[in-house]
Amino acid sequence: VKGYLQQIKKYAHLNVFNEVFEQEALAIAKAVDVKIKEGTSGKLAGMVIAIKDNICYKGHKVTASSKILENFTSIYSATIVDRLLAEDAIIIGRCNCDEFAMGAANENSYFGPVKNYADESRVAGGSSGGSAAAVQAKMCHAAIGTDTGGSVRQPAAFCGVVGLKPTYGRISRHGIISYASSFDQVGTLTNSVADAALLLQVMAGADEFDSTLSQTPVPDYAAQITLPGKKKIAYLQEALSSPGVDAEVKNTLVTAIEKLRADGHEVKAISFDYLEYLVPTYYILAMAEASSNLARYDGVHFGYRSPNATDLVSTYKLSRSEGFGKEVKRRIMLGTFVLSAGYYDAYYAKAQKVRRLIRNKTNELLAEFDLILTPTAPESAFELGKKEKDPVVTYLYDIFTVQASLAGLPAISLPTGNNSDGLPLALQFLSKAFSEQELLNFSDYFL
Ligand code: GLN
Repeated sequence: VKGYLQQIKKYAHLNVFNEVFEQEALAIAKAVDVKIKEGTSGKLAGMVIAIKDNICYKGHKVTASSKILENFTSIYSATIVDRLLAEDAIIIGRCNCDEFAMGAANENSYFGPVKNYADESRVAGGSSGGSAAAVQAKMCHAAIGTDTGGSVRQPAAFCGVVGLKPTYGRISRHGIISYASSFDQVGTLTNSVADAALLLQVMAGADEFDSTLSQTPVPDYAAQITLPGKKKIAYLQEALSSPGVDAEVKNTLVTAIEKLRADGHEVKAISFDYLEYLVPTYYILAMAEASSNLARYDGVHFGYRSPNATDLVSTYKLSRSEGFGKEVKRRIMLGTFVLSAGYYDAYYAKAQKVRRLIRNKTNELLAEFDLILTPTAPESAFELGKKEKDPVVTYLYDIFTVQASLAGLPAISLPTGNNSDGLPLALQFLSKAFSEQELLNFSDYFL
């Protein structure tokens, strides 16, 4: 813990943490040390973990990197926090993120952007940018993030760490600040596949507080990591033909395809029929759900209340206008629009139907192939401020990650070395629902 605290202080300018639980982490470490000596410690004994600042931890602040929750303290812990602590993990702090997890660069945080440890003029990715950078900069052993449309995988790719998003319904969302509930999933940012497996095993499984959870038994993921047999792998050919994908990203994909073939796997090019609908469908639905989820921040129940409010209506209006950042407001407005009576059928209902088509088509592909391989993102970490001005450019960045989110499937981002500027490169593998064990086995071999 002391070593990590030193590193956190040394690189404080990267803006990775919204708060460090210094004294508490040291105290827990001492207590865990006693348990280790007694032989009574849990599976995560001594593992120092950072959590994204949209995860509730009783008695600690949780802000979702928003002014509206700046002074809010959790009154209960997320199920995953309880499960991590029960296995003697040491939570070292809460990490910066995009406001309400909306973004792909961690530039939408009320507390300012997170900088990339590999190159401080570049973003760490988002929305779990702090969690990814914390692992990259050795400020903790592993970190927890959330992934609604790529927010664990994409920052993992930008920071050169392993980012796992499990199947929707695998890990409890109880105590996670909601963004888009039918997409939100807790995921892990780690240095190794074994750590991802161990954390998944501790966090996964039924929870009476989240009715969307699957009752599917949780395997001992970490213990069962074995060499995978020969796989049938599909790769998206547009990733190689599209001018929007960076040349060095294409190269790392080609290299991987060659290596996989040399190892005896069957690797085939495919096209995905609904490729151009992935991003619009995701954004229509995610914004609709966000506009509904964020209605609770009304200046009355909890969080920021405008000091200028004089009556109920001005309490709502001013608290929300002053408390939310620009991107969050944009999404609330667009989400409200697509849900409004006159446009519901044209946008929201249509997007739900397209989501079904995307899900069915993806599952059809996964009936034929074991894995779908794509880059995680079209480029490596870009410069701070470069994409901020045009939200649509940033949204298109999610092209490879939102498919797994729309279909509720597990996916993992794996680092594949650095590009010529020394920035991390990464590839993503997507697999069948609840096939995390196969995905982890394969990832361990691939890394
Ligand atoms: N970039 C996507 C968005 O802004 C994904 C965010 C996430 O997964 N939380 O919605």
